[in-house]
Amino acid sequence: MGIVDVVVIGGGQARLAAGYHLRRKKLDFVILESQSTPGGAWQHTWDSLHLFSPAAFSSLPGRLMPAQRGQEYPNAAHVVDYLADYEERYALPIHRPVTVRAVHRDGARLRVATDVGDWSTRTVVSATGTWWRPFVPAFPGSGAFAGRQLHTTGYRSAAAFTGQHVIVVGGKNSGAQIAADLALADGVQLTWVTQRPPRFLADDIDGRALFDAATARRRALDEGRADTGGVTSLGDIVAVPPVRTARDSGLLKAQPMFERLTTDGVQWGDGTTARADAVIWCTGFRPALSHLAALGLRGRRGHIAIDGTRALDEPRLHLLGYGDWTGPASATLIGVGRPARDAAESIMGLLRV
Ligand code: FAD
Repeated sequence: MGIVDVVVIGGGQARLAAGYHLRRKKLDFVILESQSTPGGAWQHTWDSLHLFSPAAFSSLPGRLMPAQRGQEYPNAAHVVDYLADYEERYALPIHRPVTVRAVHRDGARLRVATDVGDWSTRTVVSATGTWWRPFVPAFPGSGAFAGRQLHTTGYRSAAAFTGQHVIVVGGKNSGAQIAADLALADGVQLTWVTQRPPRFLADDIDGRALFDAATARRRALDEGRADTGGVTSLGDIVAVPPVRTARDSGLLKAQPMFERLTTDGVQWGDGTTARADAVIWCTGFRPALSHLAALGLRGRRGHIAIDGTRALDEPRLHLLGYGDWTGPASATLIGVGRPARDAAESIMGLLRV
């Protein structure tokens, strides 16, 4: 059994930011991650995905992301290279592939049970992301639909849908980007459906403004002022270049949500139908927290009650990178640095006692 002061669980950007700050504090830690190669979820996104912020505004603590030649907004492959370089540069103590099955209380310590053995630790940072828990709403008729159904996580490129009619569900960034990818491809017939009319951000607004809005919201709430609405007050969809091109060419017209799936397509409330070969559900994610079930901490909407990043009912546990509830914009490259630093500081304080 390995014995350390801190176990970080996860393999993406959040655990790298945590590793950076834990190393600076000279803490005794390991990072356990289930994948064989660096890059977290970025290894699995669709081929045409580009960041919604320039490289310099998509950086982890300590090291600027270099610009990608010819691209104002780097692609996912560039992010994977940056994360691989980052973990090597800071010589982070990563064990992979190691899948954490459960975290248990074990007296004054925590026991982290994995597929290759146990670690005993004084504290845990959970940074397992959301990509691994896709959310698809239950929908009437979905069992009867004879075509293909997939979630955002299953989409790689339009080439797989040539000659097909595809329905994309979802009015946020994933839905708009995948709809644009299909709309701009030859030989794909697209229907884009959204719960409410899509809200595009102004063309000159990108991830930088989103980060500022999320930070301002957190500050307002912390100071007891009125909720500013954060990112959602600006709109839902960043007009990255392919989305802008498809929208300006009139190819991104959204239909309202259908009422049910049928055997060969979908049906709206007024009886109108559309035939479909595939439905792509771009309907979001939930935090991947099943490895923490044995601690009995789950509360509303599957979240765990926290103060900063520390679990209220288990102060030896920190949660990092799952969304605004674990820090403003903490599920983004630029946003995870600050909560990672705060978590490392809090752990340092706890270990001193
Ligand atoms: P992940 O990258 O998911 O990493 C989690 C890691 O934990 C994985 O390696 C996984 O294998 C591992 N793991 C999970 N469970 C276990 C377990 N039980 N044991 C061991 N290891 C485990 N952010 C931006 O900053 N800019 C953008 O432009 C941007 N665009 C996005 C576009 C899309 C479509 C999506 C979905 C997200 C986007 N994000 C963007 C948000 C965010 O940056 C990514 O979701 C990012 O991958 C989150 O990093 P993470 O480290 O929290 O999680």
